[in-house]
Amino acid sequence: MTALEQSTALSPAAAAAGKHLWMHFARMHGRDEQNPIPVITRGEGVYLWDDRGRRILDGLAGLFVVQAGHGRRELAEVAAKQAAELAYFPVWGYTTPPAAELAERLAHLAPGDLNRVFFTSGGGEAIESAWKVAKQYFKLRGKPLKHKVISRMTAYHGTPHGAMAITGLPMMKKDFEPLAPGGFRVPNTNLYRHPEFDGDPEALGRWAADRVEEAILFEGADTVAAVVLEPVQNSGGCLTAPNSYFARVREICDKHDVLMVSDEVINAFGRHGHTFACEKFGYVPDLITCAKGMTSGYGPLGAMIASEKVIEPFLAPGVTFPHGYTWGGHPVSAAAALANLDLMEREGLNQRVLANQDAFGDTLRKLLDLPIVGDVRGDGYFWAIELVKDKDTRETFGPDERERLVKQFLPGALFDNGLYCRPDDRGDVVVQLAPPLTAGQTEFDAMEQILRGTLEEAWKLV
Ligand code: PLP
Repeated sequence: MTALEQSTALSPAAAAAGKHLWMHFARMHGRDEQNPIPVITRGEGVYLWDDRGRRILDGLAGLFVVQAGHGRRELAEVAAKQAAELAYFPVWGYTTPPAAELAERLAHLAPGDLNRVFFTSGGGEAIESAWKVAKQYFKLRGKPLKHKVISRMTAYHGTPHGAMAITGLPMMKKDFEPLAPGGFRVPNTNLYRHPEFDGDPEALGRWAADRVEEAILFEGADTVAAVVLEPVQNSGGCLTAPNSYFARVREICDKHDVLMVSDEVINAFGRHGHTFACEKFGYVPDLITCAKGMTSGYGPLGAMIASEKVIEPFLAPGVTFPHGYTWGGHPVSAAAALANLDLMEREGLNQRVLANQDAFGDTLRKLLDLPIVGDVRGDGYFWAIELVKDKDTRETFGPDERERLVKQFLPGALFDNGLYCRPDDRGDVVVQLAPPLTAGQTEFDAMEQILRGTLEEAWKLV
């Protein structure tokens, strides 16, 4: 009998997971009764409960997903009704009413003439689809060499080989090299890490956009198919861009006949107070990729939304996009998404985010009085707190300190103190907050208080 089997302290789920569950992006060594895998058993509103009966504030909406909050019976009931009516049929040359209705609804909600919706089961598949569409689009238009993709340093765009090749995180890719060829990186818009632009963020925006043009020209405009960027970059810690940035990138893409892809897997569906965040930041891309908040987690679903320009050559006689996913446009998820969009409209969740975003930021900025907090940045209900070793020099932590802080101390300590959120050191060291959009000042205050106590403890480890 193994130690796990003898254990009486572990719940059956924690014991089974310790033996059989291959967790994503997580270390699995040593998950015993001293260090059990957390088991979440129930959710209600902005709260979660674990198998030990503890209540935890969900400061990350699951994984930037649960916009409408947990335990929304009406979404569960719509999904159950659809499953009873027709649980599954593909969109491979057919459709179901929910998939068709959702495509129409998303087309109406998307900006400009982004009118054509290609469903996937998640975000990485949406990115993968966007790259493949971009390549075929240019082949159909007689520019077969255009295939490369430019994306930003530290940005995460998913795990399929293509999406990984677009991802700007060398540490996350090194074990899987060689990846698909054709991914090239440009700087992101991290103002905190570009102190030379302090006081003039627009200059950073122009400088960073010019790096996109530089990369297109360096690689050869006749070989570049797409530029992929998030409205607010997640990895690296909620990196907003100055106003000058996206308008200039749009101009550059048009000038060099390159498709602009807005990766809104996190940013869409109200996270920034708009259905699609590109609207808030003043640009219309050629393709949007989205997923997560579309269903608030009541079913898995992603999508790539294409403009009339992009879809046009695919509508010619005899042309097919030879690409698809079994679960893309799953009718149960599509029905849940429609009900979720109804709920978000009825409860005014976009307006709520716009009304509360400053208060959320102001509450988190109180933490700037702590010696370990160097920067607080974000937008909407999507904020990061950057932790530093020295506030004056903005010095970040070395590998051993990161190991102690981010891998060993913070996740467990925050959770034990009643807050689920995301300590992350894929770029500089940050803690990210992105609660359900139903959260308000009470929850902002609770997050600030729990973070304050936990970060004070963390500082003692530095
Ligand atoms: N793109 C962005 C910007 C993301 O944040 C993510 C996931 O967090 C993905 C793509 C990949 O999405 P998924 O995990 O649904 O494949």
